[in-house]
Amino acid sequence: MEQLNKHFQSLCAAAMGLCLLVAGFGAGVAAAPEPRQLAALAGVAALAAGSVSAERRRQAQALRQSALAPEGAATFDDIVGCEEAVEEMRQLACFLRDPQRFERAGARLPRGVLLYGPPGTGKTLMARALAGEAGVAFLHANGSDFVQMYVGVGAKRVRELFRRAREYERCVVFIDEIDALGKRRGGGEENAEREQTLNALLSELCGFQPSKSFLVVAATNRPEVLDEALTRPGRFDRRIELGLPDRGARERILSHHLKRAGAGCGPGELPALTAGFSGAGLESLVNEAAMQAAMEGCGIQERHLQAAFVESLAGKTRRGAKPDEKTQRRVALHEAGHALACLRFLPEEPILLVSVLPSTRGAGGYVLRRPSDGLPTRHSLRGAIRVALAGRAAEEIVFGGEEVSAGAANDLRAAESLVRRLVYEYGLEPELGLMPGRKADEEALCAILDREYACALGLLSRERDRLERLAKSLLEQEQMDLQAVLDAI
Ligand code: ATP
Repeated sequence: MEQLNKHFQSLCAAAMGLCLLVAGFGAGVAAAPEPRQLAALAGVAALAAGSVSAERRRQAQALRQSALAPEGAATFDDIVGCEEAVEEMRQLACFLRDPQRFERAGARLPRGVLLYGPPGTGKTLMARALAGEAGVAFLHANGSDFVQMYVGVGAKRVRELFRRAREYERCVVFIDEIDALGKRRGGGEENAEREQTLNALLSELCGFQPSKSFLVVAATNRPEVLDEALTRPGRFDRRIELGLPDRGARERILSHHLKRAGAGCGPGELPALTAGFSGAGLESLVNEAAMQAAMEGCGIQERHLQAAFVESLAGKTRRGAKPDEKTQRRVALHEAGHALACLRFLPEEPILLVSVLPSTRGAGGYVLRRPSDGLPTRHSLRGAIRVALAGRAAEEIVFGGEEVSAGAANDLRAAESLVRRLVYEYGLEPELGLMPGRKADEEALCAILDREYACALGLLSRERDRLERLAKSLLEQEQMDLQAVLDAI
């Protein structure tokens, strides 16, 4: 079951691009954004490894002299929606606070903890909270700080970081993006500098004196690329996954950040609409709503959250932009094609909004769908491919093949990526077999795209009257919700 849950999470993460909803006319929209804004959590010591400037040295000195539990440090109360991971980290915080208690029972502190999961799922925050809860110092470095051109420099920086760590009685050393220096060796791209740096890290990890109560926490989005020597027992032997939040977790994260922002409203429908968002994405959304509320001189209200949600996916509306009449008609028809295909082929992802207003992401218009929290199926993936292709199909039906525009470039890329997943990741094309990652010839992939495009063409040809009616209403109303779309056709 746990395996299934993990698989489910990774599938949802992978499916994010498709269920995060945008099929749009023009450039830039089809790539689902990953909004990311780090919350300002002040007061924790963050030392870049190998820093040379006098200012950095002065800061490091000041930190050494400061209290071990810096004021304003993060705590486990700052992290919600991943209670199991917090429980594991709580045990480590207890150990750091009172190592004797564990030593009496014969336990030893794990040498290293590897936090892994998609970007923005709270790995850095978790490491800071560990130091904050344990009341110990926090040294922060990034894996890329150690990736240097000259042989020996990276290794020197690793040794310097650990030398600094040894100056503390107890501390957490956090290495973000450890994959930058800890990639598996022997992949054909041998590099003496990288090898030396990794070796230095491996030997430092083994060199700890257990009584010193250091803990090295590393984070990565790609645990599968790490060298096995790093993840073997005795090094990063505790692995904790931080996955994308499910619906309940999204509700808790949104409520948490809304409370912190002093909002008078709850998250409303947002937990259901934000499938595929990370904790950072949700925090960023609340922050965006708070900025809008501040501009209006009031507290966050539901309408601010809704606007921030739409903006996080589609960008801001370019009110000043006024395309010529011919382009407006083309955009309206294109979006009407997406919308009709969505109603017919993807009923499990109902339309939230159809817009023909240009956005700052370069789109002339877009269709926003309510993402589904379920696992993608062959049926839903094929539906999503048809929806992506339906804008172009609508143009072909009404304007003729010679007059199809370049506005579907992103849609085509999105459709291609869905076809590749259908075949390579999920093995959901019966004729092409089950083997994930197996090379199917490009012809076979093209045939799938053509097949789904023919379905979109077929639907819109049959429903041409509805298509044109919807396009006309879109031109008049500019933005329509599901009910308005249903009324118009
Ligand atoms: P990356 O892999 O890109 O480095 P990360 O996993 O380290 O990202 P953080 O930097 O820890 O992510 O998260 C950024 C911000 O997102 C946090 O400071 C916090 O505001 C918010 N956040 C992320 N996850 C959670 C969570 N589970 N609960 C509350 N807030 C969260």
